[in-house]
Amino acid sequence: MTTGKLNVQAENIFPIIKKFLYSDHDIFLRELVSNAVDATQKLKTLAAVGEYKEELGDTSIEILLNKDAKTLTIKDKGIGMSAEEVEKYINQIAFSGAEEFVKKYETQAATNPIIGHFGLGFYSSFMVANRVEMLTKSFKKEANGVKWTCEGSVDFDLTEYTEKTTRGTELTLYIAEDSIEFLEESKIQSLLEKYCKFLPVEIKFNDKVINNTSPAWTKKPADLKDEDYKSFYHELYPYSFEEPLFWIHLNVDYPFNLTGILYFPKVKDKLQLNKENKIKLYCNQVFVTDSVEGIVPDFLMLMHGVIDSPDIPLNVSRSYLQSDSNVKKISSYITRKVAERLEQLFKQDRKQFEEKWDDIKIFIQYGMLSDEKFYEKANKFALLKNTEGKYFTIEEYAEHIKPLQTNKDNKLVYIYTSNQEEQFSYIEASKERGYDILLFDSVVDSHYIGHLERKLENTSFVRVDSSTVDKLINADDSQPSKLSDEQKNFLKPLVEAIVPKEKFDVLFESMSEKDQPIVITQTEFMRRMKDMSALSGGGMNFGAMYEKFNLIVNTNHPLISKITLETDAIKQTNMLKQATDLAFLSQNLLKGKDLNDFIKRSLELIN
Ligand code: ADP
Repeated sequence: MTTGKLNVQAENIFPIIKKFLYSDHDIFLRELVSNAVDATQKLKTLAAVGEYKEELGDTSIEILLNKDAKTLTIKDKGIGMSAEEVEKYINQIAFSGAEEFVKKYETQAATNPIIGHFGLGFYSSFMVANRVEMLTKSFKKEANGVKWTCEGSVDFDLTEYTEKTTRGTELTLYIAEDSIEFLEESKIQSLLEKYCKFLPVEIKFNDKVINNTSPAWTKKPADLKDEDYKSFYHELYPYSFEEPLFWIHLNVDYPFNLTGILYFPKVKDKLQLNKENKIKLYCNQVFVTDSVEGIVPDFLMLMHGVIDSPDIPLNVSRSYLQSDSNVKKISSYITRKVAERLEQLFKQDRKQFEEKWDDIKIFIQYGMLSDEKFYEKANKFALLKNTEGKYFTIEEYAEHIKPLQTNKDNKLVYIYTSNQEEQFSYIEASKERGYDILLFDSVVDSHYIGHLERKLENTSFVRVDSSTVDKLINADDSQPSKLSDEQKNFLKPLVEAIVPKEKFDVLFESMSEKDQPIVITQTEFMRRMKDMSALSGGGMNFGAMYEKFNLIVNTNHPLISKITLETDAIKQTNMLKQATDLAFLSQNLLKGKDLNDFIKRSLELIN
């Protein structure tokens, strides 16, 4: 029997274990099961190279809960340890045996990777236990069983223990009073599901295997069918009922190691995001975290799936993580892969790509906005959708509108609507002219428009109701006016008297007879300012400042001539009110008392 003192460094370790890791006590189980997996994988490696000649037999790891004894046991049939090894690997705390092993068996270990490198490992058991007992026996024939106990101080006991006759390690935690939650079956079950669901060695709890030892991302893409990817998606997110749209299988081993599957979910709006369905980060099949900021580019955070990489430093702060060169490479690798996959889908099956466009467009636009490299790739397959439901690439669209929508300065004018219902009459008027109208109706769209305007040469975007239809393309186009200047001067104060001055500028324009008698527009500039101030949110609302519209009187409309020539002043005002209200209505601006008055007046008119 040996009694002794743990390595001096240990004196500092226990309080650290107890205090600083307090918030994340759960991980002790991950650490201990990972050690058990490592011990099993090491044995398999030794068997593969012929250093272990006996039968491997059942290698499953068991998790045993004993509520009466207040213990939790993790039992493996792995490599085990001799007394010397316990001295070396367990007693000299700061020393990590995993590192040494990997160095020695580097090439073989690639097929049975070793997890251990989280650092704290074994001693995290003291976060929840006040006494830890380890029975272990090395795989080596001549080795004797060993018993090691420690009560969370620097003192330990190490004795020979011949009762342990089978290979492997049995670690028993005497759960402390303040940690009795870990004696609950449901707690252990949920921890195992969270951290151990895809570990490469069978884990049994209550005699049931809780893990899938070869999850889809560890397989070759060629060996997987669409169905396999879909069913793996549901294995990852059991509470998700939607099917993923498509996926990307990541697999790289140089200059860093990374595998994974990323899924495009159906996301129409960022707000719809299910918080549960986040990308999960694994390290050699051990779950690490689902907060992947910094590792995955921001715009891809909307994706679902898994990333598994032993090359992501896990014990460092977020800010350090983001400056790590491997992590930077990983992030740009993922971006490139996503772009390539999308391009491939676009080229292979345009029809399917178009069908899914509405669901994936938020990723792509967000990506184009935030990542220059992604923009360069994506502008070839990013689609524009018009009000007829047709899709164009940016290049195709430019060709499509060139004949009718090039202005005098040789600029292409893209006309868009943000709401087909509300801007219906404007859309119709534009269509009459043969113009094409794009649909830009999401939150990201207003930023996207600005971005495209900066990127595309000689291009401007105008919303369909930003001016009268004749001036959408060329702002200074005008036809002869039927109303004389005197008549306009007569009419102007009459109109101004019936609309709130601070909100409307009254203007005259000679449009077609077929256009509406009065049209309300809001200039592209005003509206963008308003949208921007709404988006920036934050307490004060400057939006009201930009609530300014143009009220445009069509000097060529027969009704306007009729109103001008009307001799009965009351009738004239009523007609004018009716015509302006109709214009407000088509811009969705008629509300409350004004709407009520309009209805009353209309009823009187038909009476
Ligand atoms: P790490 O796993 O990062 O190396 P740990 O503190 O968890 O650090 O473990 C230290 C060492 O103790 C391991 O590297 C391994 O050699 C040994 N060890 C721990 N658990 C077991 C086990 N269940 N079976 C065999 N050896 C183990």
